[in-house]
Amino acid sequence: VLKGISCFIVCVLGYGAMYEPIKTNSAIVVKKFGGTSVGSLERIANVAARVIADQKAGELPIVVASAMSGETNRLVKMANEVDPYYRGPAYDMLLASGEQVAISLLAMAIEKAGGKAVPLLAHQVGIQTDTIFSKARIVSIDTKKLLSYVEKGIVPVVAGFQGVTADDQITTLGRGGSDTTAVALAAAIGARECEIYTDVPAVFSADPRLVPRARELSRISFEEMMEMASLGSKVLHFRSVEIAAKYKINIHLRSSFEAREGTWVVSEDKMLENPVVSSVTHDPSTVVIKLYPVPEGVGFLADLFTQLAEKNIVVDIITQSFDDRGQRLNFSVPEEDLAQTELLLAKVVKKETSVEIMREMSKISVIGVGMKNHPGVAARFFQIFKKQEVPVHLVTTSDIKISAVVDKDNLKRVAEALHKEFDLDV
Ligand code: ASP
Ligand code: MG
Repeated sequence: VLKGISCFIVCVLGYGAMYEPIKTNSAIVVKKFGGTSVGSLERIANVAARVIADQKAGELPIVVASAMSGETNRLVKMANEVDPYYRGPAYDMLLASGEQVAISLLAMAIEKAGGKAVPLLAHQVGIQTDTIFSKARIVSIDTKKLLSYVEKGIVPVVAGFQGVTADDQITTLGRGGSDTTAVALAAAIGARECEIYTDVPAVFSADPRLVPRARELSRISFEEMMEMASLGSKVLHFRSVEIAAKYKINIHLRSSFEAREGTWVVSEDKMLENPVVSSVTHDPSTVVIKLYPVPEGVGFLADLFTQLAEKNIVVDIITQSFDDRGQRLNFSVPEEDLAQTELLLAKVVKKETSVEIMREMSKISVIGVGMKNHPGVAARFFQIFKKQEVPVHLVTTSDIKISAVVDKDNLKRVAEALHKEFDLDV
């Protein structure tokens, strides 16, 4: 995960530097509407009106939509009832169906409101992916057809979240993947910007449901947003930010219920200032797995993590240590991958190793590009845990973040205290 981040960082810290305008000249704007924005027929009609108004104001819109809210979860639930372990073409085809419904209704609504629109599934656009079902990555996008519609004043309404393999299988990009469809389209076309419409007005310095004193951020850097996305903030799909950073696509995250601007996700040189910590992010549910003792040496670790990788399980934090009885290994995985992980552990772990699974864990992180040249952030971070008497189970850091795994019960308390400590409270 971190590899992607480090390769694009240009370490120019623009303190009080020029305030570059965000908008460029192209009139094409990719507009992505999330599940709640198309959550009912009334909301779909609102979106249609908004798209037409923007088009009249001179924009050339390309719309991307997610499934109506709750729909993908409903499909996942049915799939799990049939077979919780199945992953493959049938699962992806099922999950992708939600977007088909949303784009059809939205295209109809645009036409009803006097505009011109065409609904397009991934295979009709030519959004080609690799063959990793449920976590597919886009490999290419054919922009010809899209552009020909745009030129004629017809709004393409593209299904988010889905792709097609070279041999015509439907794939999906991972939960929340419509953002990635939108940013990838914007990059492929060279759009002016990518608007992500959601039910929140902006990116906040923390999840306001957890930290009521969280503030709205007017700008945030790609790098910080990537950390936020990979650390559990559900605001944007991780891959979407990675692509935006790589191709310098400004993302404008805003509410579909309000006209005002939200948060711009931009490159670091467009930031006004770099606070030491710009946000406190959390992942409410993670699972810590403790294995002790495991066979000495790195052979066991290499085999275990290779097998987890083969199952596409993203291992997050790993710590390893020795004591007189042998090697201890702790690592964390997302809750949704626990069933697969347990199956695999049952196969690879020998009888003499005890396996402890700690559920009901959360990860709390502080993120900020300013951390790179401010010492003492870790000290302030751990002082808070000491004051709050919150035990820490695992820790990990990068040059712009520090994360700790804590018991779910302690999450709120420690999040609020960290938010205050780093001067983020409103
Ligand atoms: N509908 C898909 C999901 O719920 C994709 C998305 O919403 O971005 O994961
Ligand atoms: Mg989303």
